[in-house]
Order: sequence, then C-alpha cells, then structure tokens
Amino acid sequence: MHRFNLKYVAILVVVAMAFYGCTSKLNAPKQPDANAGVKPAPLPVVPPEPAYDPTAFAPLHPRALSSRVTVLMFHDVVTERGKGSVYFDSTVDEFNQILDYFDEQGAHYLSLKDLHEHLVTGKEVPERSVVLTFDDNYQGFYDNAWPILKSKNIPSGMFVHTDFVGNKSGSHPKMSWDQLKELDKSGLVEIGGHTCSHPGDLKSLPIDDQERELAESKSLLEEQLGHPVPFLAYPVGSADSKTIELTKSLGYTMAFTMKNGPAEESPGVLEIQRTIQTKYKDAFEQSQDRAKNVPAAVVTTDINNAPITLTAGEFDGISLVFVSGGVPVSVRDPAGGRKSVGTYVEKHSGMAGMNGTFFVNAALRGTDNAMIGPFKSQNEGVFFVDRDARRLEKLIGRPLIAWNETKISVAPFSSEALNSEDGVRQLHPEFTDCFLAGAWIVHNGEARSRSEISTAAAGDFNDPRKRAFFGWKSDGTLVYGATQNVITTSAMARGAAAAGLQEAFLMDSGFSTSIVFNGKILATGHSSESLPSREVPHALVIKGELGQPIDVESKKAFDDAKSSTEISSDTNGEEVVKTKKRRRSRRR
Ligand SMILES: [Zn+2]
Repeated sequence: MHRFNLKYVAILVVVAMAFYGCTSKLNAPKQPDANAGVKPAPLPVVPPEPAYDPTAFAPLHPRALSSRVTVLMFHDVVTERGKGSVYFDSTVDEFNQILDYFDEQGAHYLSLKDLHEHLVTGKEVPERSVVLTFDDNYQGFYDNAWPILKSKNIPSGMFVHTDFVGNKSGSHPKMSWDQLKELDKSGLVEIGGHTCSHPGDLKSLPIDDQERELAESKSLLEEQLGHPVPFLAYPVGSADSKTIELTKSLGYTMAFTMKNGPAEESPGVLEIQRTIQTKYKDAFEQSQDRAKNVPAAVVTTDINNAPITLTAGEFDGISLVFVSGGVPVSVRDPAGGRKSVGTYVEKHSGMAGMNGTFFVNAALRGTDNAMIGPFKSQNEGVFFVDRDARRLEKLIGRPLIAWNETKISVAPFSSEALNSEDGVRQLHPEFTDCFLAGAWIVHNGEARSRSEISTAAAGDFNDPRKRAFFGWKSDGTLVYGATQNVITTSAMARGAAAAGLQEAFLMDSGFSTSIVFNGKILATGHSSESLPSREVPHALVIKGELGQPIDVESKKAFDDAKSSTEISSDTNGEEVVKTKKRRRSRRR
C-alpha cells in the first residue's frame, strides 16, 4: 500500500506537471517550448502517444468497462459529533476506519484525473481501485482529514461551492482560498466545481441561472488556482439532460452525481456515480462483485475459420445442437421484414445460419422489426443507433458483440460508450458487424449463474423456452447453437459450458430459435417441425468450408432433419408468420 502510494505520488506529480505546468508557471501554454533554456536532447524515434488532456471532453471508453471503480462521497470530517452534526459527517475515527478497511482490502487510490483518464481512454487501473471525494469545502477536511491523507499520500477530490469560501460561521466552517491553494499545490487534492451558491435543486432552476452557477464558479476557481478546473460535482447530485448538456458546453469533462454504483456503470462521463461514505463496504464489495460477475470484459479473440461442422448431443444433461466454425456475416432483411434463416443462408451463399438477436416486439400488425440496441449488418453496411432512451437504460451491461473476418470483441454495453459507430470502433477498430446480445451466459469457460446473468438481461431471460446462443471455444472457433427442448437460459448456459464454450451469449429465443446447417433445419422454434424455420428480421449467415457432422449422433440428427428450403417460399413463410403473430403478444 505504502509503496504503491509513493509510486502514485510520482505519477501524479508527473501528470500534474505535464498538464497544468508546474506551480511556478501556471497557465503556461502547452507548447513544445516547455524545455526552453534546456539543451535540447535528441528526440526519440517513437511516434508520440496522443496526449491525454483532462480538459478535452471525451465520452466513456468501452475498454474502461473491464474495471469497476468505487467512488466515495464524503462531506465534513469532524473530531466528534456535536449539536450541529449531520448523518453525512464523518468523525476522524470513522474516517480512519474506512481507510483501514481499504488498507486491509488492498485497495488502490486513484486521483480524479486517473479516474477520468481511465474512463475516457480505457487506460487500465489496478483492481480494487477507489476514489475519495469530498463535497462542500469544509474546514474539517483541512483540520482533520488532510493531515491523514497527506501522511498516507492518498489523493482526493474536493468540490467547492465558491460563494462560501472562507465562511467561518456556523457549525460547519469552510476553507479559505489560501487553504484551497495549499491543497491544490500539494498535488494530492484536486479541486473541482460545486456551483456558486449550492442550489437545493440545480436542475429545476431556469437554464440561465444554472449557467451562471456552473460558469461563474468554474472561472473563479480557475482564476484563484491558476489552472483549468474540468471536474464538477452537482450539488445534491441534481442534474437532468439539460444540465448535463450545459455542463459539457461550459468545459467540464467529468461530473459526479449521487446515484450509487461503480463509476464505469454510470450513464455517462458527466453523470459519474458515487456512494456516500457510510456505505463504503457495500459500495466496495459491489464493485468487486460486479468486476467479477459482469464479465470483466472486454474480451477479444482471433476467429478460427475452421470447417463448418454440426454437433448434436447431450452436454451436462442439456440437449444441444450447434454449428461450429466458419465466419458469420450478420444480415437483416433490407425491407425491414422477416425471412426464414434458411432463406437468408441461401440468399447470402452461406453454409449454415442461425437466428439473430433480439428485435422490438413485433406489433400484431405493422412491420416494426427494429433491433434492440445498436447494430450493423453486413448486407446493409449502415450503423444503426438505438434512440429509445427508456430502452437504453435497460440495456446497460448486455454484451455488445463486434467482429470482422479475423477478430471478434465483446464488451458490456454502455449507451455512452457503445451506441455509436465511433464508440464500437474503440472496441474493435475494423468491425464490419455488430449487435447487442441478450445476456452474457458463459465467461472464461464457466456457466454464469442465474443471478449473475440477471444483472444485465431482460426480465424474462430465464423463462423456459427454446433457447439459442452464440459464442466461441477457447481456440477461437465460433459456435452457433440452440437447445432441443424448452429450457431456461441458465440451464442452457451450463450445457454450453459443458460443450466447451469459452464465451457465450444469449440470442433471440422462443419462436425465433433456428439453426440451419447444409440445407437442413436442425433447430426450430416452431412447435411443428414440418414448418420452415421461423422468419426473423436478423440472422447470422455462416460462411466457410463445409465439414461433416461431428459423430454418429450428430450425423443422425442431420439425416433426420427437414430441408430448410423445400417449403420456404416467401409466400408460405408470410402466411405462417401471420398465423403465429396473433398468438404472440408477449413483449420481448
Ligand atoms: Zn454539496
């Protein structure tokens, strides 16, 4: 811990000097003449890394989602509770107790800038990272917390409401400008904005008043401290979309609310979640659980374009059929309608195929086959953004899968990081296809439990249905599978893990379940096997070299299967779908 802190301070000092200039040349322009007067050294041949600039706005980066940082929010730190004390004060004893706990847990402290760089560039941070923030500029911080933090070299953030600087009245006196400058110069405390007057409900103020609160406090802090102040905490966490837009336009690049949860699961970089210090244990444990359970992912693998084979059999008692190998292309009916998987396979010259991912509940009439979440299909080549704000909230954490012919990557969905083509490029620079799967069901070769899966899945994910999955084995062979029976998602996850899947994801299920291999339907969501595979708006068409079914049982499954084309004329298909639609009113 101690060793880490020393290293940390060194890094912090370097970072602080790099971006703010050292204290003797505040506001020095960031020019290449920083070495003026020093004998020029030979330039290194390596191209410079693009510099991280904390004052430049950038959204959450998908690679940040592989960690879970706990941000704690403190207020005053007092020697002991008195008449004027409030529940969100900490006593020195309580404060030490929290630091001792983090010490025992091997926690690592990040500065606000460390956190910001991690969130917007995806730079890795140590496991069990914690950020300490303090609101409201209390003198108690200077008197009681700062000596401890300084002696332990622990960084922290202090959010200052500028109208109250130096106000010594009442039971909660505030720090002076001189004290704030001293903290700022130490390099261990980063000062952030907290408006001028600390409105009780910032978002409810007229937008002009919000602007004045946010802009004037920022410029006063910058004038006093002599450097940019890009970070903010909304008083009482009050911010709506207009406040956030304003915050961004005023040059803030990271802002904190009071909604609880790990930083990376925040809705955006201007709405970073924090937890009150009294819940430090819960918050820290939650972060560790989430880091473990929301697969610590970004997961990437090279695609092994193996011969396309068929396997049918029991795996851990679960009856599965799956196609392995090849490379999939994601296709959607360009007319916005539906086709059977067999039709997509034929049309796009594939060897096999499966139904795609989830789509918006097909209205009984109408052709609303819009996909859930962002996606890009290869036949359309256009990136679609999901613009349904209410739906997006529910999609956080679901696996976003992006690939091209050689590589496939997956990350838990964040609407800020991954609901744009540029965002997905941060995950997979050369992706040609992407979609949002229903849930992450196998990770690192282990089936995830029902409760683990439930953290980012639709409410009905575990209802018994015919279920479909997509994933890969440890050698990078992709796998496209389904259950032969009506089953829960967690049961399918156990089967998929037993079948050797390294990572697996829930695809659309129920009636949509369809696996087609070499012209035959190996799995169908229809109750009657004489019907062609159910029509869907989106499918994975598997291209590559066709292999043989893997063993006797799989060969028999293939021989017994119905043709995917003999009754798949569009007209017949449409009629089938119309009948089915009326029976199918559930929401997805
Ligand atoms: Zn406050």
